[in-house]
Amino acid sequence: MVSAWNTAGWTPPSIREKGNRLATAVLTKTPITVAYGDGIGPEIMKATLHILVEAGARLDIDTIEIGENVYNKGLSAGIEPASWESLRRTKVFLKAPITTPQGGGFKSLNVTVRKGLGLYANVRPCVAYDPFVRTTHPGMDVVIVRENEEDVYGGIEHRQTDQVVQCLKIISRPACEKIVRYAFEYARRYGRKKVTCFTKDNIMKMTDGLFHKVFEEIAPQYPEIEREHWIVDIGAAKLADTPELFDVIVLPNLYGDVLSDVSAQIAGSVGLAGSANIGEHGAMFEAIHGSAPRRAGQDVANPSGLLLGAVLMLVHIGQGDIAERVHNAWLKTIEDGIHTYDIFKDGVSKQKVGTTDFAKAVVARIGQRPIHFKPVVYQTGAAAKIEPWHDTAKQAHKELVGVDVFLHVREGVPNEIGERLRNVKAGTLQLQTIANRGSSVWPGGHPETFCSDHWCCRFMAPDNSTITHEQIVELLASVWKAGYDFIKTEGLYTFDGQPGFSLGQGQ
Ligand code: NAD
Repeated sequence: MVSAWNTAGWTPPSIREKGNRLATAVLTKTPITVAYGDGIGPEIMKATLHILVEAGARLDIDTIEIGENVYNKGLSAGIEPASWESLRRTKVFLKAPITTPQGGGFKSLNVTVRKGLGLYANVRPCVAYDPFVRTTHPGMDVVIVRENEEDVYGGIEHRQTDQVVQCLKIISRPACEKIVRYAFEYARRYGRKKVTCFTKDNIMKMTDGLFHKVFEEIAPQYPEIEREHWIVDIGAAKLADTPELFDVIVLPNLYGDVLSDVSAQIAGSVGLAGSANIGEHGAMFEAIHGSAPRRAGQDVANPSGLLLGAVLMLVHIGQGDIAERVHNAWLKTIEDGIHTYDIFKDGVSKQKVGTTDFAKAVVARIGQRPIHFKPVVYQTGAAAKIEPWHDTAKQAHKELVGVDVFLHVREGVPNEIGERLRNVKAGTLQLQTIANRGSSVWPGGHPETFCSDHWCCRFMAPDNSTITHEQIVELLASVWKAGYDFIKTEGLYTFDGQPGFSLGQGQ
């Protein structure tokens, strides 16, 4: 007799498992690099890999050491030089959290790997699992796509005077184009309806302005996807209040860093979120939480964040079928009330388990689909498209029209500095304005404006005509002879006739 379930395409577990094992044996394994990390890292990685293997993931694992032990050997980057060979060969890195040693001199391993491998997109799905995990936003399902390499994360900082330090915010057109395109490709691939961009371009008109401009340029190439832009402050407030109104959010590095943690937390728990770091030459997958040293070695940590990071990895390497099995088994475990201590809730949870038993519970549900939650569906080869970036912009006509000379003047008032520098000339260059912390203080200015010891003196030709580098060198020598310490200069250029520099506040 042929039963209904057989004709419906469902095969009994024994045959299915045998088939899976055969398929696994004949299909090529994907090489990946794995690091077990510090603190709870080894426990949650062991649990995660156990689930992946039981689900039939086709992986050829190369293990490397990162983190505390490596830092303690005196390697300030937290990774051995030889480990880069593994990362370059496999191009896929599944990484457990590490403990960053206290004190100076140590570099963030995450930033090192992201920049070293050009992982320009950080993708973090933030999903509510109501009513099984407590949240005030039951309908939340937001994906944060954060630019991962530049902005203030270049870490380019200088102390310039007694009173003033600076950090450079670098925003490049290639990075904006890559991250915005990635966000739209992601939305298209996963059937998302809307991409929202957050910037602060009402203040940073050039840097955040470029990010927003690129967003508006690229969005029309995806007409089926709605687009919107919010200034980041009100956007962040709306996200915290009504996250269900958002779908995919693309944003520069610093705002993305802050708001991706906020999003994960209001969805339910930072302990449940995984993230992907994607580039043209590789990808890294991890949990968003740290190494929780106080919980280490007790078999209590929740492996869910790393497991969901691993699901993103399986999709990325084209094993969407396995990703689907793992993700649905995990959803079923959560809705069955099998919870680790961090999400355990009396009255909702059924059983409090440790790391190992949680992994066993997920494995026991492989092949099952959730009933309360919508089952996830991944296609094999379902990763968002990564196109290499090509420079398609025409080169602008660039002209040097002036120079900002920054001075360290310990004691001085705007009028005094202005009157002395008015007589310092080089060719057609003349002092036009003086600004202090971005506010115009000479000529004119408000007596109430507080002035630090850091002054920006703008020299241009009176008719805004082109100047030469020789004139700048001559000018600096004259400034020095007039008794002023110049700490840096910024060339003032026009690009196709448009000024490539901002005006001082009040200018
Ligand atoms: P953390 O995320 O490690 O832990 C904060 C608290 O959250 C823990 O005390 C614990 O109560 C809870 N928690 C976190 N993950 C959990 C899990 N999987 N299961 C159950 N509970 C969990 O943050 P921290 O204490 O600020 O940082 C500890 C170390 O981790 C630091 O050295 C920090 O630099 C590092 N860190 C590493 C990464 C990374 O490797 N990607 C990220 C963040 C922090």
